[in-house]
Parts: sequence; C-alpha cells; structure tokens
Amino acid sequence: MAKKRVLLLGSTGSIGENTDRVVQNLAEELELVGLAAHSSWERLLEQIAAHHPEAVALVDPEAAGKLRAALEKADDKANALPRIYEGEEGLVKLVRETEADVLVAAISGAAGLPANIAALETGKDLALANKESLVMSGSILTRLARENDRRILPVDSEHSAIFQSLEAGSREEVGRVILTASGGPFRQASAEELEKVTRQDALNHPTWEMGEKITIDSATLMNKALEIIEACWLFDLPPEQIEVVVHPQSIIHSLVEYRDGSTICQLGPPDMRVPIQYALTYPRRRPLPTEQLSLPELGQLTFESPDTERFPALRLAYEVLEQGGTAATVFNAANEVAVAAFLKEEIPFLGILKVVENCLKQHNVVENPDLENIFAADEWARLETEKILELDCKESS
Ligand code: NDP
Ligand code: MG
Repeated sequence: MAKKRVLLLGSTGSIGENTDRVVQNLAEELELVGLAAHSSWERLLEQIAAHHPEAVALVDPEAAGKLRAALEKADDKANALPRIYEGEEGLVKLVRETEADVLVAAISGAAGLPANIAALETGKDLALANKESLVMSGSILTRLARENDRRILPVDSEHSAIFQSLEAGSREEVGRVILTASGGPFRQASAEELEKVTRQDALNHPTWEMGEKITIDSATLMNKALEIIEACWLFDLPPEQIEVVVHPQSIIHSLVEYRDGSTICQLGPPDMRVPIQYALTYPRRRPLPTEQLSLPELGQLTFESPDTERFPALRLAYEVLEQGGTAATVFNAANEVAVAAFLKEEIPFLGILKVVENCLKQHNVVENPDLENIFAADEWARLETEKILELDCKESS
C-alpha cells in the first residue's frame, strides 16, 4: 500500500514535534513530504535529515538563507536537496506545489489561514490543530472543504473526542456536546490573586505541555472559548447545543449526550499523539506506544461548572457566535495581540480579556463575510487592539 503523504506546517512546535513522533511510529504507512516553520532552521535541518522531505518552507527569509547554506554544506549525496521556500508567499507555494494527501495545520494563530485555504483548494485533507484559522473563517474553510470534497479532521483533543463519540449515533440523535476544560493553572485562584498573575505563573499549565500562545489561552479560558466556536464549525452544531464542564484531570477529553439519555465520551492520558494519529489514520486505529490509563490509580475524576465571572472568555464566545459574521475574526485577532502584549509583560493577565471585549465593542460586524472581509476584519482588530493597549498604557502611567 502506498504511504499516506503528509505535509506538516509548524513542524518545530509542540504539535509539530508530536506529529513527527507519530509519523516515526507509523513509518510503514505515513511519510512527511513537506515541512514548514517560522524561523527554527536548526531544528528543521534535523527534521530534514530524519525525513528527507521533498520541500520545506521557512517564513523568515534570514533563517531560510541559513538553512540553505547548511544544506549545501552538508552535501548529502544519497538524498536530493529539498526545494526551499521562504516568506509568507513561500509557505502557500509549498502547499500548492507539493502533492500530499493531508496537511497537518500546526502553525499557531491566524498566520496559518492562507496555507490551510491552499491545502483545501489543492485537494488535501486538513488535520486541524490550528483552531484560530477555523474560528476566524469557519464559513470559508467549511465551504472549501465541501466544494473540494475534502475533510477537516480534528487534532484538538476535545474535538477528536467529540468526533469519535459522534460515531455512536446519528446527528439528529445528539442532544448536547460537552467540552471538557482543565480549568488551567488558576482554576481555584481568587479574583485578587488573578490580578497578580505573572507571565511565569500563566505559562505553567497543570496537565498539558504546549506552545506559549495556547498555554496563555488555557489560563484565561480563551482556549475553551475558541474551542466552542471551533466545535460549531467542525460539527455543524448550534451554540446552544454546546456546553463546557471543568474537569481538572484532563482524562475525559469531551462527551456527546444523545437524546435517549446515553452519554458517550473518549478517555485517555493527556497525550496529543493520540488525536494526531487518529486524524492521520482515520477511520482506523493503529497501535501507539502511549501510557496506559489506570483507573484505580486515578481514583477519581472530578467535574465542576466554569466560573464565567472570573473567566469571561466563555461568555464572550457565545456572544460572538450570536453576532456571527466577522465577530469571531475580531475576537481571535484581538486575543492574539493581547496575548503577545501579556507575554512581553506589557499588560496584566486580566487585561487580556478586557482588551478583547473592548475591541469587540468597537467592531461593526460584517455579515456573510468573504475572504477579503475576513482579512480586513483581522487587520482592523489588530490595529484597534494596539490602539486600546496604547490608550491603556497612557492612562495607567
Ligand atoms: P508552538 O508555538 O509550539 O509551535 C508553533 C509552530 O508554528 C512552530 O513550528 C513555529 O515555527 C510555527 N509558526 C509560528 N508562527 C508562524 C508563522 N507566522 N508562520 C509560519 N509558521 C509559524 O504551538 P503549538 O504546537 O502549541 O500550537 C500550534 C497550533 O495547535 C495552535 O493553533 C494551537 O492552538 C493548536 N493546538 C495545540 C495543542 C498543543 O498541545 N500544543 C493542542 C490543541 C491545539 P518556529 O519554531 O520557527 O517559531
Ligand atoms: Mg484542546
């Protein structure tokens, strides 16, 4: 059987490295034919040596130059040099010009959107970790998938769990979908304690090891807010059918309740290789050397309702869904800018959601947006958020 050809964008990140391990585990059926990152050329060089892809891309041209020089110097006679693309356009070209069955979208943030569009347009399935792209342009990505007869397969652990649990019945039989949330590092923090949270505190996630941006999103519960919107698009669900429950152990990855009173869920140790591999081998389940779940050792699994007072992100997600159009694009873009400002220690932790809410209030929603409207709303929100941040700084100094 021919191997499945996998194009991996964001190969040097947390999801990218886990995908690399999944492909190595299933080397007899998966191969990495293309890799891309932003600027981590040294790590990309190692990945090229391990996988011999046909093409690679680095968005940062300087890093691409260093990679090219290193590859030429290495003079690997046994393997042809990969094609090297650079810049944002290069990333999209890599996708268009490399034949593949599936693209693993593991770039973080809105930067991943153009490549994801190119993937669907050139007939590749999308194994989607990059939830921001779906949140900002759900109507467009789902339409492209339909038109090109391609799938968007969830990599996000909650959505993989829902995807798996949805196999147990038909869509009309579904009552509710329940997304689980770890609650993040500040699940039990008081409002006063939240005011003093530092960058370091927020980067310390209790159950998952992930990139910086999503780790901050998990601490503000923005990650769960984005996941509510992601679930609406992936599974064509109305917002009122989606609920969130806090489950600090991150063992049950999400649940689907059917109208007959049966609730089906997927459990497993927190290991992203599981949903990544399922997206790449669906509908089959292949062996994966992962930690076995020991229920007696776990002892108990606990659940609580999320607190939308301390964590307003969830409330905002439903408001954004109610507004529709470009509201989610703005929600996502404002958050990306605010998180970057928090990571640079320019704003306090609680400032992130304040800034996002403020930006949403200023936005005039465009209904039924086309791609141009989406990019315009994204750009507007980034500028508007910068303005809000500047004003805030002036007021507090
Ligand atoms: P990381 O920050 O660990 O990795 C991001 C990857 O994308 C790196 O390879 C980075 O390259 C590359 N990258 C970043 N910015 C750009 C850009 N502008 N253009 C091209 N490439 C870029 O992130 P994660 O792996 O944690 O997350 C990736 C995505 O997966 C996010 O959307 C996140 O929400 C989602 N996700 C992650 C989970 C996790 O467990 N980590 C779980 C569920 C979803 P470089 O190294 O050169 O900077
Ligand atoms: Mg998740």
